[in-house]
Amino acid sequence: MGFLYYDYYYLILVVPMLLLSLVAQVMVKSTYAKQSKVLASRGITGEQAAARVLYHYGITNVRVEHAPGGKLSDHFDPRSNVIRLSQGVYDSNSVAAIGIACHEAGHAAQHAQGYAPIKIRNAVLPVCNIGSSLGIPLALIGYVMGIEPLISIGLILYAFIALFQLITLPVELNASKRAIRVIEETNMLADDEIGGAKKVLTAAAMTYITALLVSLANLLRLFLRFNRRR
Ligand SMILES: [Zn+2]
Repeated sequence: MGFLYYDYYYLILVVPMLLLSLVAQVMVKSTYAKQSKVLASRGITGEQAAARVLYHYGITNVRVEHAPGGKLSDHFDPRSNVIRLSQGVYDSNSVAAIGIACHEAGHAAQHAQGYAPIKIRNAVLPVCNIGSSLGIPLALIGYVMGIEPLISIGLILYAFIALFQLITLPVELNASKRAIRVIEETNMLADDEIGGAKKVLTAAAMTYITALLVSLANLLRLFLRFNRRR
């Protein structure tokens, strides 16, 4: 397996993207830390903010729960119809908490309205799971045994990971768009506080973009690597 990592393409293609994604992760943490200290003047909590978004969309079958998970572990679980908010979000009055809570409720709204990119994402998910576990091993077996179609199948399976991340982008951006729209329409935040919530959500979106770039770089590098000896 060593040859997959110690190669030139990894250095010039993947490493820069990994650094970029590292920068994005540092930025999301620092933006979150900063905006967690800015308390919203209206005094509502993350939990109440999420509930307001649900109410705005007329959603009555989704619960908002306090989850024991760590920072930035907030999510909407469509299987149990639960929005789980972390320690620093659920009962926090911060601008960051309200932004994140509303974003997660935005995901609930997407599910409730049958937002198309979510359906597409769910449809490709099984192939992505196969791709992430079998793609590289298959390509390697094909490479070692000289079976070219197997290399292609492996790489195509692996490419589904990038495809999944690509479809995730509109889903995430749209959840944030819904969040900001409801925040504005319902006056959850004062005008000068909305910018802070937007910053948190934009920083989070950047991590999804850089994750996609890492996958694309990896795909290109594997393609070049496996092609070299043909
Ligand atoms: Zn999201």
